[in-house]
This record gives sequence, C-alpha cells and structure tokens, in this order.
Amino acid sequence: MEKRFDALIIGCGPAGLSAALNLQIRKKSFLILGSKVCSPWLEKAERIDNYLGFPGINGTALRDLFLDHVKKMDISIQSEKVSSIYHLGDFFVAKSGTKEYESKAIIIATGVHIEKPLEGENDYLGRGVSYCATCDGPLYRDKKVALVDFTEEEGWEEATFLSEIVDKIFYYPVKGMKTRTPLSNMEVLQEKPLALEGKDDKLQALVLENSTVPVEGLFIIRETQRADVLLPGLETKQGAIVVDENMATNVPGAFAAGDCTGKPYQLAKAVGQGGIASLSAVSFLDSRRA
Ligand SMILES: Cc1cc2nc3c(=O)[nH]c(=O)nc-3n(C[C@H](O)[C@H](O)[C@H](O)COP(=O)(O)OP(=O)(O)OC[C@H]3O[C@@H](n4cnc5c(N)ncnc54)[C@H](O)[C@@H]3O)c2cc1C
Repeated sequence: MEKRFDALIIGCGPAGLSAALNLQIRKKSFLILGSKVCSPWLEKAERIDNYLGFPGINGTALRDLFLDHVKKMDISIQSEKVSSIYHLGDFFVAKSGTKEYESKAIIIATGVHIEKPLEGENDYLGRGVSYCATCDGPLYRDKKVALVDFTEEEGWEEATFLSEIVDKIFYYPVKGMKTRTPLSNMEVLQEKPLALEGKDDKLQALVLENSTVPVEGLFIIRETQRADVLLPGLETKQGAIVVDENMATNVPGAFAAGDCTGKPYQLAKAVGQGGIASLSAVSFLDSRRA
C-alpha cells in the first residue's frame, strides 16, 4: 500500500489536468491516474474554435500544450486505469490492477461513457461480468471467457493477459483487429455481441447477432467506465454524476468535473469545473484539518 494522499484525480483529460494545477499550487499531495492517451476525446478533435485564446487549434496540439503546462509545474501523470473506488468512512481506496491507492479526497474526471450497455450487463455485474481482466482474470482460470474491446490498445493487452490463464477466449474488437494476430486459444468474433444469458444469477453465454458462445466470464473493456460502477453509491442521473455548484457529489470528499458531470461536452466547461473541483477539495481537506 502506498502512502495516503490528500487527493487522487482519476482521469487526465482537460478536467483532470486543470484540477491538478490548483492542487499543486495549494501544495496538496496528490496523484493523477489516467489513460496512456490524455485524452482520446481531445485527440480526436480536428479543429477547435470555441476555446478562448486558441482559435482553430487542433485537439492534439491543444492536448500537448496542456501536458506541457502540467509538466512545467512538476506534475506527473501515472498511466494507470482505475477499475474501482471504495469510500471507506473517511478515506478512499482506488484500485488499479493489483495496486491500491488511498486518499482523503477524490476528483473524478473520467469523461463520458457513450457506449450502450449490453442487454443483461448490469444483471451479471460481479456474477460473470467484469471491467478489469487484471483484477478478475484469475477467477476464470481454465474456463471459457469473452472480451468485448471498445479501446484502441488496453483491451488487447487485457485479452493477451487473459489468454495466458483461460482455456479459451472469444475476442470482439469493436475497433477492428488492426495488424494483430489472434492468439493460439483465441477466437475472434465476427458477429456483434448483443446480450448476456445465464441461469440462477450465473452467466452462461454471450448472445451474438446470429449465434451464441458459451462463456462463464465476460470482460468489457471501455475507455471510460460508468461512474456509479466505478464508485458504488455515487449518485448519477442519466449516466452523469450529480454535482452541486462546488462540484461536490453525494459522497463526502468526492468531487467530479468535466464531461462525466453531463452536457455540454465542452472543453471550457471541463477546464472550469476541474478548477472548481480542486478548490472544493482543498476546502474539504482544510476543514478536516481544523
Ligand atoms: C471529435 C471531437 C471533437 C470535439 N470538439 C470539441 C470542440 O471543438 N470544442 C469543445 O469545447 N469540445 C470539443 N470536444 C469535446 C471535448 O473533447 C471534451 O468536452 C473534453 O475532452 C472533456 O474533458 P474531460 O476531461 O471531461 O474528459 P476526457 O477528455 O474524456 O478525459 C477523460 C480522461 O480520463 C481517462 N479515464 C477514464 N476512465 C478512467 C479510469 N477509470 N482511470 C483512469 N483514467 C480514466 C480517459 O481515458 C481520458 O483520458 C470534442 C470531442 C470530440 C470527440
């Protein structure tokens, strides 16, 4: 277990990076955990015209300016995806693979989750459905599993890890196989997964467009996870984290910023909310010290 930080920031998009600035200025100990690409959304923006001071800038160029800014302030980003967060009384534990990080406050800046859940996904969550192969893969040793991959890279890494443990892995890369070669115990699915099927609370099969594959485990790897799954007990409305004007959520010490708090999905809002969330986290931390 690492030391207990004042705060953890989950997500390294504009909202998370903006939050990091105030925490650094206010001399709080914190860790920013994010994806390898900060952020896949910003990177996709070809031309941005509504971010003050940078008319017509390309998303990747703006992203590089953001990263350069945090680097100049001695803030480093840890490329680790958080699979779950637990609120344990007066502190939080964030799990990333086999690692755990503790903090007194948390800022969720994980962006928006746009993919529709598979039919039955929620029903089998924790009963066959998992969002983290590194965490739950060993439960399926020598069994048949499927992995639905919505990511550019991460899902393939998780599938490779799983293939070393399981009997057989059915792999569905939503964004295509690219130049990858299927692994020896891997079957690449050509049909789209639609639903989950099971009996007595146990997952038994993944239903495809025209067929069914028998599996005991289903791993769904997305760039961004549903916020209420990430932090159980977090209040959400239509998928967006409910926050007040201080970016405080219903969980004491947990703040949220950016696209994960709902529309509009815009940079200026993400950056502004990141700033507010971090100042609110500072007030929260200071009030607990008093
Ligand atoms: C094609 C396109 C064009 C756009 N054009 C514009 C525009 O012109 N103007 C404008 O204002 N906005 C535009 N946007 C929207 C803008 O990119 C978003 O509003 C902005 O990126 C939101 O920032 P964010 O930090 O809230 O989320 P994101 O940028 O999505 O960042 C969230 C980060 O958190 C990471 N993350 C998620 N879950 C976890 C986890 N569990 N653990 C660790 N890390 C995690 C993600 O991988 C990501 O890096 C555009 C978006 C797209 C896709």
